[in-house]
Amino acid sequence: MKRIGVLTSGGDSPGMNAAIRAVVRKAIFHDIEVYGIEHGFQGLIDGSIRKMELGSVGDIIQRGGTMLYSARCEEFKTEEGQEKGIHQLKKHGIEGLIVIGGDGSFMGAKKLTEKGYPCIGVPGTIDNDIPGTDFTIGFDTALNTVIDAIDKIRDTATSHERTYVIEVMGRDAGDLALWAGLADGAESIIIPEMDDEFDEVIERLKRGHDRGKKHSIIIVAEGVTSAVDFSKRVEEATDLETRVTVLGHTQRGGSPSASDRVLASRLGAYAIDLLMTGKAGRMVGIENNQLVDHDILEVLTRDHAIDLDMYRLSKELSI
Ligand code: ATP
Repeated sequence: MKRIGVLTSGGDSPGMNAAIRAVVRKAIFHDIEVYGIEHGFQGLIDGSIRKMELGSVGDIIQRGGTMLYSARCEEFKTEEGQEKGIHQLKKHGIEGLIVIGGDGSFMGAKKLTEKGYPCIGVPGTIDNDIPGTDFTIGFDTALNTVIDAIDKIRDTATSHERTYVIEVMGRDAGDLALWAGLADGAESIIIPEMDDEFDEVIERLKRGHDRGKKHSIIIVAEGVTSAVDFSKRVEEATDLETRVTVLGHTQRGGSPSASDRVLASRLGAYAIDLLMTGKAGRMVGIENNQLVDHDILEVLTRDHAIDLDMYRLSKELSI
């Protein structure tokens, strides 16, 4: 393989730049040319493609977002859109493609692979919702952002003796909420994977209040309900005064954590290893701190699993 392409697609996540850097540097190290495709699959269709040099990825390892920009592109879900993308790949002599993104982006990678263009998927999303890897690029940074915010909210929650309902991202996955809740000692963690009895939440709040707790933190994953609706239910069921914080897109930004930079560097470089050995239609990941790869199609049919032991532990510790 003499020339490859790289793109970022779907929601951006901190560490995507470190992954792009690893792809570009590792490829050039092995005398492979790299072309950067801007704006995800939309840029592929439009031919927004440029050659990357060693210097193109200088000074980006510490930056959030993605220097190649990201986009969602409905047209690429169609045969016609995919053919347009292939036309551009052919025109630029690109023989393989690295797609950094979430499961939707991997569907695009799978389609291209089926049409004869070897693709490797690198999991980049703050949601940590991709099976076949313990962690996705950006999750650790987003988690730290959430924790930092909750620590600050705690101060005012204590001063005013209030109950805070905090909504965190994660789409249909509860990882961000669960990890943040455990790390921050939340009273209740509401995630899509578990049916937490509302009565139980209320009981826990009342128990805490009765033994003199000055504040309570409830974390709600966006995949379950809105924090506004949840706080209304809490106020109706108790005489506690609640406040709501929706952390929103602050969770997607910021300088990547050391863990995310290292993970992105390892996964990006491993994706090049796979392309060089003729593999295609694979997703790279990390399991028990070992680099692994899985068939993209197989991964996409699996359900994302939450760590139930962690969930149980969070309940035991917030008794
Ligand atoms: P995140 O989890 O952060 O949202 P994602 O990669 O899952 O990231 P999506 O919006 O689901 O984000 O997908 C990104 C892009 O991947 C889509 O806009 C589209 O261009 C492409 N894509 C998604 N599904 C398909 C599909 N079935 N076939 C071809 N391309 C697809």
